[in-house]
Amino acid sequence: MVHKKLFVPGPTEVREEVLKAQAKWMIGHRSKEFGDLNARCIEKTQQILQTKNYVFWWTASGTGLMEGTIRNVVRRKVLHCVNGAFSDRWFKISQACGKEPEALRVEWGKAIKPEMVDQELAKGGFEAVTITQNETSTGVRAPIEDIARMVRSKYPDVLILVDAVSSLMGDWFDIDELGLDVVIASSQKCVALPPGLAVAIVSPRAMEKCRNNPARGYYFDFEAMLKRYEKDKQTPTTPAISLFWALDVQLDAILAEGMENRYQRHLKMAQFTREWAKKYFAVYPEPGYESVTLTTVTNTRGISVKDLNSALGARGMQISNGYGDLKEKTFRIAHMGDLTMEDMEAVTTAIVEILKL
Ligand code: PMP
Repeated sequence: MVHKKLFVPGPTEVREEVLKAQAKWMIGHRSKEFGDLNARCIEKTQQILQTKNYVFWWTASGTGLMEGTIRNVVRRKVLHCVNGAFSDRWFKISQACGKEPEALRVEWGKAIKPEMVDQELAKGGFEAVTITQNETSTGVRAPIEDIARMVRSKYPDVLILVDAVSSLMGDWFDIDELGLDVVIASSQKCVALPPGLAVAIVSPRAMEKCRNNPARGYYFDFEAMLKRYEKDKQTPTTPAISLFWALDVQLDAILAEGMENRYQRHLKMAQFTREWAKKYFAVYPEPGYESVTLTTVTNTRGISVKDLNSALGARGMQISNGYGDLKEKTFRIAHMGDLTMEDMEAVTTAIVEILKL
């Protein structure tokens, strides 16, 4: 199989050392060894994210935790900020869980601003608001800091639930300082692990909400996860042990790089890719709200994105077509995980050469 370097917004490129870490001998998940492994992963995650909140690594993809979060902490009314496919997915999940969700919608490519959220929450009765920090379908970064500060000051009882699936450990926002109640992410994006794990960072008050909620579901029960952890550092059900081995190695690498450096690297790659996009095409998101981890480019030249990707494939690289209705109208170049400036230079140069720009 030919190795194509992935510039798609997940799964991202996984370093060989991390891939190989998965090939360790299997251990029993009821062993002290697994408890120690799980505890190491949790403690390192807290250290990287500078959070005192609870951290849980689940064997699931991020969507599992989108559903789990709703089941754990929402009884009835939740406001979803919707500006793309993944934020809309969270709204649909709440519907499918029998909640009474409402959606605050803006056009794809635009960001939802604090005053819009304020206007909706002012109607009253909401237990929580969901924010997609990095809308992967459009490449829009939510003004999470401003929204969270507004909610915390004006609606202290409303929980803030954040989808950081495609940004956690790439982009930076301070979970504890902003008072975010549940933040979720998948392993296959900025963490640069294979798919299969998802993380939830849960505030004590979200945990309290969950504890008092008898209909919080089973597989993603935060309280069950905490109880088992407090007992022997293990997980209630069988975890993907191979992925935990890889996670242990990758979190060490992230700690060694330092989160500030990791964020700066992502920012530099984003600025470079955005400038490149402006030179040859156009940048899709509303100015000022561009993602730090992927750039969505408007296909102003009417090129065939599909053909471009085939040509890139022959050179051992892969980018992403536009999402859903944006297919062929946009394309997405991810700069997440362990990619470097050299990688971004290589992929953008290859595109220029292929298209003879
Ligand atoms: N939210 C966002 C913002 C995403 O980008 C994705 C995956 N592309 C998901 C949720 C769903 O995550 P998963 O595929 O890990 O279930």
